[in-house]
Amino acid sequence: MKSATKNRIKATGFISVLYVFLLCYTIAALVAWGIFLEHQNQQLARQQIIILGLRTDRIRQAGVYRAGLNHILNQEKGHTWQYFGEGGTFLIIILIGAGYVYGGVRKHIRLSQQQFNFMMAVTHELKSPIAVIQLNMETLSRHRLDEHTRTRLLENTILETSRLNHLCNNMLLASQLESRQFRIVKEEFDFTGLVDQCVRENNLRSNYHEFTADLQPELLISGDRLMLHLAVNNLLENAVKYSPRGSVITVQLRVREGQAILRVSDTGAGIPDSEKKKIFNRFYRIGNENTRTTRGTGLGLYLSRFIARQHGGTITVTDNNPKGSNFEIILPGAETGNLQI
Ligand code: ADP
Repeated sequence: MKSATKNRIKATGFISVLYVFLLCYTIAALVAWGIFLEHQNQQLARQQIIILGLRTDRIRQAGVYRAGLNHILNQEKGHTWQYFGEGGTFLIIILIGAGYVYGGVRKHIRLSQQQFNFMMAVTHELKSPIAVIQLNMETLSRHRLDEHTRTRLLENTILETSRLNHLCNNMLLASQLESRQFRIVKEEFDFTGLVDQCVRENNLRSNYHEFTADLQPELLISGDRLMLHLAVNNLLENAVKYSPRGSVITVQLRVREGQAILRVSDTGAGIPDSEKKKIFNRFYRIGNENTRTTRGTGLGLYLSRFIARQHGGTITVTDNNPKGSNFEIILPGAETGNLQI
């Protein structure tokens, strides 16, 4: 995979060099033509002046000579303005076009690099749970195991299956978005229950993180249960993935002015300000393939933002204090059967 990435970087470098070379060549040709035409213009004017001098008597026809000379000089000046004016316009058009093409090509190369990384990540993300499940099943079927080991293997298999399920849901939704076939199906349901379920699932999955949940009880919202499950799970999975073992992940659910406010905070490395917007782009992952240690597809936050927006809500990220990140989803149309806290 690293050599494929290197090849791509080489190809990108080659295309950039070729592009800059062609651009410089075009500009140099334009300037050379400009100088050549101006030179011809001056030569033509000089010859016209000589011919004028031969045809008119400078003393007796001084007025005619001056008028002719003025005409030639004005013509020469007019041509000079024409060449520089048109040349300058062409140069500006070429530079604007070049800027657009360069921006477009760079965007295309970046997207295709991200798509390539995504394919590699998906292959890896699909293969590793399948390998674990296969190994667990083979161990269970071939060996006589004590009850404790059996339970551990079965639990582990269930967790890997649910990881696969989560990944498939993300990919399915992403492909539905691509083909614009996606529609949310709204129903009124207990959002507190859903967040609680997600926290429990992730708590079970991660032996190395501690979850603390402070949830507004009986918070009802009208939304797509499956989609919101996916969005909340994406935030919790990220908190686990991007914060150190042994750290605490805090989940808070509040209601304010008819809005449900879900906040997931971790104490990981956090997200630099320059990346805070970009992480919601499709396939975007911070860093590069050679230095990244965490697995992922770059789809989770893109989908979470899409889901929040489909519900008329927002998703934002801020810095946690003293370190880490806070992800906040705000959804309108929340009601509570209980007192507000
Ligand atoms: P994935 O996690 O599969 O790479 P996401 O779309 O969920 O994709 O996240 C995009 C990127 O945002 C991640 O690759 C990671 O660099 C960054 N990120 C997301 N959540 C966090 C977090 N809680 N802490 C630090 N970085 C994060």
